[in-house]
Amino acid sequence: MSQNASRLPGRHFLQIPGPTPVPDRVLRAIDMPLIDQRGPEFAKLGKRVLEAIKTIFKTTQPVIIYTATGTGAWEAALVNTLSPGDRVLMVNTGQFAALWKTMADRLGLRAEVIATDWRVGADPAAIADHLRKDKAREIKAVCVLHNETSTGCLSPIGEIRKAIDAAGHPALFMVDTISSLASTDYRHDEWGIDVSIGGAQKGLMLPPGMSFNAVSAKALHASKTAKLPRSFLSWDDMLTMNKQGFFPYTPATQMLYGLDTSIAMLHEEGLDNVFARHHRLAEATRRAVRAWGLEILCRDPKYYSPTITAALLPEGHDADAFRSLALATFNISYGASFGPYAKRYFRIGHLGDINDATLIGALGATEMALALAGVPHKKGGVQAAMDYIASAQSGAAVRAAAE
Ligand SMILES: *Cc1c(COP(=O)(O)O)cnc(C)c1O
Repeated sequence: MSQNASRLPGRHFLQIPGPTPVPDRVLRAIDMPLIDQRGPEFAKLGKRVLEAIKTIFKTTQPVIIYTATGTGAWEAALVNTLSPGDRVLMVNTGQFAALWKTMADRLGLRAEVIATDWRVGADPAAIADHLRKDKAREIKAVCVLHNETSTGCLSPIGEIRKAIDAAGHPALFMVDTISSLASTDYRHDEWGIDVSIGGAQKGLMLPPGMSFNAVSAKALHASKTAKLPRSFLSWDDMLTMNKQGFFPYTPATQMLYGLDTSIAMLHEEGLDNVFARHHRLAEATRRAVRAWGLEILCRDPKYYSPTITAALLPEGHDADAFRSLALATFNISYGASFGPYAKRYFRIGHLGDINDATLIGALGATEMALALAGVPHKKGGVQAAMDYIASAQSGAAVRAAAE
């Protein structure tokens, strides 16, 4: 940046669905002198975070921590459990599902894909139908995204589990919870997930560069005979070293300090309160979008995402140009649009370390930007969001006054 580049005062509104804003307390936790990753102090940290992360996945089974972004944990899930040529069932809910499918192709798996129009989540009945047709029980894994970040559609993971069971199919169930974990309810054990894939830079409020595999006994068992090549991502080495709180290679120590703190913060707020906050912010955002007269990309309320809302602009209006104008004028970033809807929508991320007032600021900037960009819309989106939040918070306000 040139010395004369004009400063953008105040906080950047990072309303993309990850990376999300990192709380100051997490930044301070990371700002520590390095320690010996084979020493006793590290072992304590390692053991503590390896246990604590289980509470976020709601599991008592092992969670593996990778020094990699979410994409690395996607790969880890596949290469640790599957063999070349294995059939896997995927649901094309959007851009991230499509990327995971491309990865499966590159690894030499045979992916079969249930299509959607990118405006809904995964349908449990369609998955059960597909599995019932697999009489020889050759499909080795069902791979679904809990929250499709590119469209703002959430899939009913508990119901999909029931559908797989109803079809009597033994496939492993792998779930990408990267943009839903620590933002909305997720239950690795209760939902019978075999591999849950998480990432750091979304609901966990951390910088990018860390990701997770929560692993069931069935997945561990499959890993004993799985033949896809793996080395850095091997669960075996990790699980062996993790027993003492260590890692097979140099771990990202500072990220582990951050994780320790972000998990503590989530429990201080209370996971159920964290989830309620995300649902409130999502509903407020949808009310704003509807009041503007814009269409929400997710077309069926049963799939609404608690973390991301994608708003379609009217035909003839370029959503990328709208995003650029909003960034230049109001210092706010939104998520981009993909695939069949490229340039048609922008995504408002409302996950991580965000509260009611931040959201109202973001929606205010959005309403002003719509006006400046000449996008036909009605006024009153921010008002609709404020009215909803005020009524949703009135119970809490009464309780606070009574204390
Ligand atoms: C962000 C994201 C990914 C990719 O994660 P990276 O950290 O960018 O590698 C995968 N799946 C979902 C659902 C995501 O939101």
